[in-house]
Amino acid sequence: MAKQKYDVVVVGAGPGGLCCNALLCKWGLKTLLVDKNTVPGGKAITVERNGFLYDLEPKLQVPMTGSAFPQLYAELGIEDQLGAIPCEQVSMSYRHKSADKYKTTVMGQTAKDPKPLFDLWGLDEKEREEAIPTLAELAFLTPEQFDAMDDMTFDEWLSQRKVPWGVYSFFAMQANGSLAEPIDLVAASEQGAIMQHIATAGGGGYYKGGFGRMLGDIADYIKANGGEIRMGTRVEKIKVSNGRVTGIATDNEDFDASIVVSDVGIQPTVLKLVGEKEFDKSYVNYVKDLLPGWAFTAVRYFLNKKVVKEQMAMIYADETWLNMERFLKIRAGHVPEEVLAFFTVPSNYDPSMAPADKQCIIAGTICAPDPKAPEIEMQNNKIDQMLDKIFPGFMDACYERQATGPAEISAATRDSVLPGQGGECVGLAQIVGQCGKHKPSQKTPIAGLFIVGADAGGRGMGTHQSGESGMNGARLVRRYHTMRQAAT
Ligand SMILES: Cc1cc2nc3c(=O)[nH]c(=O)nc-3n(C[C@H](O)[C@H](O)[C@H](O)COP(=O)(O)OP(=O)(O)OC[C@H]3O[C@@H](n4cnc5c(N)ncnc54)[C@H](O)[C@@H]3O)c2cc1C
Repeated sequence: MAKQKYDVVVVGAGPGGLCCNALLCKWGLKTLLVDKNTVPGGKAITVERNGFLYDLEPKLQVPMTGSAFPQLYAELGIEDQLGAIPCEQVSMSYRHKSADKYKTTVMGQTAKDPKPLFDLWGLDEKEREEAIPTLAELAFLTPEQFDAMDDMTFDEWLSQRKVPWGVYSFFAMQANGSLAEPIDLVAASEQGAIMQHIATAGGGGYYKGGFGRMLGDIADYIKANGGEIRMGTRVEKIKVSNGRVTGIATDNEDFDASIVVSDVGIQPTVLKLVGEKEFDKSYVNYVKDLLPGWAFTAVRYFLNKKVVKEQMAMIYADETWLNMERFLKIRAGHVPEEVLAFFTVPSNYDPSMAPADKQCIIAGTICAPDPKAPEIEMQNNKIDQMLDKIFPGFMDACYERQATGPAEISAATRDSVLPGQGGECVGLAQIVGQCGKHKPSQKTPIAGLFIVGADAGGRGMGTHQSGESGMNGARLVRRYHTMRQAAT
């Protein structure tokens, strides 16, 4: 039987691959999407079990306004299906380094009035006056001014201003929470723009039925518009001949295409699926030197009663956010007294996601992306302790606890092809030298091979960044496809 020939094969049904593929279908290209998992969504799948619907990891900081998904849904003409639910209530718990106890405040997502935060941080009048110019400057920076901040860390940007400790500590926690990065490596352009977005438009929210439902609807659009999807199919090889893509080999079948879009990460794509020998040594070294982002280790708690009223929570102390020094200490075996913890409660956004009398809480803390990291269990146990401290009786109400760390995240999504890499929360680290104008190109040196997803072509927070990259990648691919047609 003659083999099927596709205009484009997309490898990976994460947010990047799905957004790219949906637009290509809308524009009439013949596509095949292949993913090794049985459900689409990548790191953002939603699971249904025992009356609960839940994501495997805490999804907290996702812009609900101006993000990739409302744009894509509008472009596909399915905007009434999006089901975006902006976060209305965040529980913020903070302990100053001089205090024994945590203070908690419940606030809205935007921080147009900084007073609740100033009170939480315990700033005196003089410190409040000192904080305002930097916060106001950040709120009004233009996209061009952010672009000019690609080459400095957020720590460097703050150190050029006079900011009280409470403000610095909050930003350091946010660098861990929103980008899974340390404040002393994260690019000021990325982190600054995210802080502006959170303060002015709210940074968090959820989708009715979960992230996986929202992404699953994109997969349904692809199928309904002529795209073929093969789930449960691992791609073993992206085939290349004379520097050009010719198709893919899966665990049971080969497919031909002169364009392949990869959503599996730039390092697994280049070093494993294509193979080093097809590239120049300098490109291989460039790819090998890219630093993976940090990970989150997540614990899901199933509670026999409703313990938490808010939609999300952030629990941090001056000693618990991680910069490089603290991270390396933990990696060397240090056991911290406490960890920072973030969590979401899906049913506090969409009550249909849990039985009426129960709750599923998905919590996480920052950790190494190394699937073999030995400290993960210790960090998970510390999350238990933190939740019990802030919400007394929390663990007593828990009848089932499940953990997902970098090993499980890597197994489910990104292959570990270099030591210490694979369990990344987002993808490549969004640090100086790797984002903005320094982000890897979506177009690779192999003709017809493109990268979408977290590693190339987007910016900002996780799922949004991958979605934006998918949409940008689709435009690039369509132009390339048209040019190739003109050339033959
Ligand atoms: C713990 C945790 C918390 C997070 N919190 C947030 C949050 O609050 N807000 C937010 O916006 N984002 C969050 N994210 C990040 C977000 O989920 C990711 O940034 C996003 O899913 C990345 O999308 P992607 O398209 O780049 O790739 P992925 O989601 O990694 O998808 C890649 C896909 O490729 C498939 N694949 C890989 N190799 C192969 C192969 N050889 N053959 C076939 N298929 C293959 C995988 O199965 C997977 O489906 C979080 C992630 C984690 C892990």
